[in-house]
Order: sequence, then structure tokens, then C-alpha cells
Amino acid sequence: MELSEIMLRIKEKYHETDSKSGALFLLAVFFEEAGELAEAVRKSEVDSVREELADCLFMVMSLANYFEVEIEEKLIEKYLKDDPSSRWDLPS
Ligand SMILES: [Mg+2]
Repeated sequence: MELSEIMLRIKEKYHETDSKSGALFLLAVFFEEAGELAEAVRKSEVDSVREELADCLFMVMSLANYFEVEIEEKLIEKYLKDDPSSRWDLPS
């Protein structure tokens, strides 16, 4: 299943609820999930990292659906066609 199909199915299932919740609520839940991911990473708990990555990705998709933006196309354009890693300030 491609990312765009997963997003469509998430939209069909959750868009009505997400629309009532509002963008700021969705963003708050995303931050909560990012915090859970941070805790899982800090503890190096791989099963929890997997779980929280799924939660974070779900919330990113919910936000994208809320704003009706196509993230698959942007991901390809920004990270596959281009390579921004040369501009990142990596720790040495
Ligand atoms: Mg979670």
C-alpha cells in the first residue's frame, strides 16, 4: 500500500472527527506523541520507538488531511529529488 492510499484511508476513517477536533488539537496530540517517542528513544526501547513512530506518522497524516495538503509529493520533491543533508548542521 502506498503512502497516498494510507492517507486516503485514514482520511475516510478519521477526517470527520479530526475536523471537529481542530488543527490546534491535532497539533497538541502530535506533540504529545513526539514526547512519547522522545521517551522511547531515550530509553532505547525499540518496540516503543516503533509504536510511537506510528503514532507520530498518523498525527502528521491527520494534520496533512486536515489542511488537505499532499505530503507524498512534497517528500519526494524535498528529500528524494533534492538532498538537503549537505545543508544540515550535524554534530561533529
Ligand atoms: Mg503514543
